[in-house]
Amino acid sequence: MTNDKLKNTQIASLGIMFFLMCGLRMWFAIFLYFIFGITLTIITKKRTYCANFCPLGALSDAFSFKENKKFLKLPKSIQYLTFIVFFLYIFFILYYNWGNIFLLWAELFKFILFIVFIALTLQVFYKNRTWCTTLCPMGKIYKGIIKYKI
Ligand code: SF4
Repeated sequence: MTNDKLKNTQIASLGIMFFLMCGLRMWFAIFLYFIFGITLTIITKKRTYCANFCPLGALSDAFSFKENKKFLKLPKSIQYLTFIVFFLYIFFILYYNWGNIFLLWAELFKFILFIVFIALTLQVFYKNRTWCTTLCPMGKIYKGIIKYKI
């Protein structure tokens, strides 16, 4: 396991996310990060957010395994399905819990923990950052921004 390569920006971003979600219980913290990621990608035209600021990317790097070399090959259909389910689920959380700040926070927090669990479990068996390279819906949005020069 290697965790000596985390950048200061990754550590800071992870700490801020932890503080916002666990300290302040700010349910919309995840959306602030989405906006920050999109803005940074548009400005830099690179995956700057993924490489330097994404809390999940930082956790993936912190819990990365040098010895994993296997690629996870997934059909495009699974990747599209993940993309759709990811955003639909967030939409349902917002829709059904709107007006109740505690439930919004609790459901989004559970969802974040679930995604972290999936991402870290994947890289136990496959290459590091497999979630990032194959499934992450936000990563696909950032990729699209760069590809289509938005
Ligand atoms: S691909 Fe997704 S999880 Fe990975 S660093 Fe980018 S936004 Fe974060």
